[in-house]
Amino acid sequence: MTKPSLLILPGDGIGPEVMTEVRKVIAWFGTHRGLDFDVSEDLVGGAAYDAHGTPLHDDTMAKAQEVDAVLLGAVGGPKYDSLDFSLKPERGLLRLRKEMDLFANLRPAQCFDALADFSSLKKDVVAGLDIMIVRESTSGVYFGEPRGIFEEGNERVGINTQRYTESEIDRVARSAFELARRRNNKVCSMEKANVMESGVLWREIVQKVHDEDYPDVELSHMYADAGAMQLCRWPKQFDVIVTDNLFGDLLSDAAAMLTGSLGMLPSATLGPVMANGRPKAMYEPVHGSAPDIAGQGKANPIACILSFAMALRYSFDRGEEADMLEGAIEKVLASGARTADLMGPEGGTPISTSEMGDAIVAALG
Ligand code: NAD
Repeated sequence: MTKPSLLILPGDGIGPEVMTEVRKVIAWFGTHRGLDFDVSEDLVGGAAYDAHGTPLHDDTMAKAQEVDAVLLGAVGGPKYDSLDFSLKPERGLLRLRKEMDLFANLRPAQCFDALADFSSLKKDVVAGLDIMIVRESTSGVYFGEPRGIFEEGNERVGINTQRYTESEIDRVARSAFELARRRNNKVCSMEKANVMESGVLWREIVQKVHDEDYPDVELSHMYADAGAMQLCRWPKQFDVIVTDNLFGDLLSDAAAMLTGSLGMLPSATLGPVMANGRPKAMYEPVHGSAPDIAGQGKANPIACILSFAMALRYSFDRGEEADMLEGAIEKVLASGARTADLMGPEGGTPISTSEMGDAIVAALG
């Protein structure tokens, strides 16, 4: 039987640091649960630019198309700020998402009991929180044409275009409804139909997909700005939120703070189903390369480890192992172990990135 294949792309900044901890977890599952992956590694982002002059080599792109899942750390950093837009590290990530057609970005916001006090919101508002934001991720204003900075009269104008086709909205709506059926059966769709035509079409198509194929799922619509307020006021009213690329980017970062730290948030981006019945998939923490703490052993590896847990669940049908891993993280946090980003105002001594990884592996055992 062929082994499940995993391509690891550590990237830049804290990406390689947090990925080192994921490798420990992968090794543990290999030894103790007979989970034998065919693991390959490659460069992305600034690291790929330094080696090849491009943020994603064509060979890496080809590899990503072949494997069962890609696990990515993070890309970017100030060193690359002055590069032409087409060479910036983030373009490597966008190319992966675009060419693998990864259109549904799943961002769970889950509050671990041990961290409920740590949230900027009151404990009863966040304790037990478990919501999933489904962000459309291959279209919208990050990809729409025309785009650029142009001369107009005696000044320049910056242009980006928000553009959605019916089929793009249809497929991401289906992902959200399918997911809701496996959760609490509720979808809230967010757009700005009051001021954007793309929002009017979004609302119409989501409602149509619902009425035709998912009438059993409870559907509501909300303007994205009101949605941001509701996320802070009473987030537990939501189960699955489906929204476009730009609003999803903002709303999921806001949801990050509900759970305490960007360092706790994993994500999955799923595409079309392949011949083996699994969706194309890339897993990555929500956070960036955190240049302010890179190389200091301060990064929280949990978001990246939880991203691997999502890979176990969605790409490798190993839900039991995913539960084990999440349970080990809950146990470590309950013991009081914290990386620097999780230290509350009362202070304490933070543990390092590698100490957190070791503690999670020990808790698995
Ligand atoms: P960031 O997520 O890198 O950092 C924001 C803040 O959160 C920083 O103070 C950082 O120290 C902290 N933080 C982030 N992850 C953490 C972790 N695991 N543990 C502890 N603290 C953590 O966002 P930014 O500063 O806006 O961006 C930095 C670079 O990353 C930029 O080049 C940006 O383009 C890039 N970026 C990449 C991705 C990605 O690869 N998916 C996502 C966002 C930003």
